[in-house]
Amino acid sequence: MPVGTQGTVKAVPQDTLESLGAEIILGNTYHLYLRPGHEPIRRMGGLHRFMSWPRAILTDSGGFQVFSLSSLRKVTDDGVQFRSHLDGSSHFFTPEHSIDVQIALGADIVMAFDECTEYPADRARAEESLRLTMAWARRSLDHFRAHSRDVPWFDPKVSRAQSLFGIVQGGMHRDLRRQCAERLVEMDLDGYAIGGLSVGEPRELTLEMIAEVLPLLPKDKPRYVMGVGYPDEIEQYARLGVDMMDCVLPTRAARHALLFTSEGRLNIKNKQFAEDQSPPDPACQCPVCRRYSRAYLRHLVQAGEPLSATLNSIHNLAYYLGIMQRVRTSLDPAPV
Ligand SMILES: [Zn+2]
Repeated sequence: MPVGTQGTVKAVPQDTLESLGAEIILGNTYHLYLRPGHEPIRRMGGLHRFMSWPRAILTDSGGFQVFSLSSLRKVTDDGVQFRSHLDGSSHFFTPEHSIDVQIALGADIVMAFDECTEYPADRARAEESLRLTMAWARRSLDHFRAHSRDVPWFDPKVSRAQSLFGIVQGGMHRDLRRQCAERLVEMDLDGYAIGGLSVGEPRELTLEMIAEVLPLLPKDKPRYVMGVGYPDEIEQYARLGVDMMDCVLPTRAARHALLFTSEGRLNIKNKQFAEDQSPPDPACQCPVCRRYSRAYLRHLVQAGEPLSATLNSIHNLAYYLGIMQRVRTSLDPAPV
């Protein structure tokens, strides 16, 4: 899933995302709640209509951004008090409030409110954090079941129902991860995510946690690993049985002139590309690789041209979506 933090996948227009084959994008509850606000978006018919995106949208719960961006956080059993990173204003987020915001946005997939356990976290800290995440998952579910159709445009004949996913936390402690997964599965949610990974831990540990949790999650429901990863990681996790992943890497790296290609990573800023007439990735069929040279992409970076971010992002997204397409094809039974 390409990440569309503020109701936009940075630098890439919606019609381009559609033509690249993106079926679903991610929106960030924390950002959209602060600006422009979920109520204005609700009044305008929801996020799909506001940003003109007819395909699926998953919203995160806001928890991760509250913990990573805001200041002066105060966590209690009830929720999290925090100050906006935009203007310092004070806000209080509870599981119920996070679900209300995501319902107002009209997300197809709503995420339960969780506490993303930092790394490293000792056992006592991870246990405390897990206790909160479990209690908040239950409250998220109860509130979601009671209110998920409370939007003015919801028409059971034409509107898609919203789904709620739970998030497995537990730090890097295998037994806590298992305990969390088992408890969430008992709640019979629509899908399950593994969160709190890619937070600074070594990659072997990320893989170990995924391998520990994945077999405990139902195979007939989507299994989602949040916030990963590099191209080889997403392929590795998909082959383990992960169905969904999101990552800012393809678009963020693109804005820093880093291209992912079949020949490895290219820093397109490098002088060696100054007169390189070859396509960014000779094996790629994306609109950028079919039309432009490495030399031109390098020039755009050097000149600080905004088109640079757009073209680099389109290629990187095409590369990531292409990996997933290949994995899907290789897993599906051969067409008759
Ligand atoms: Zn390309």
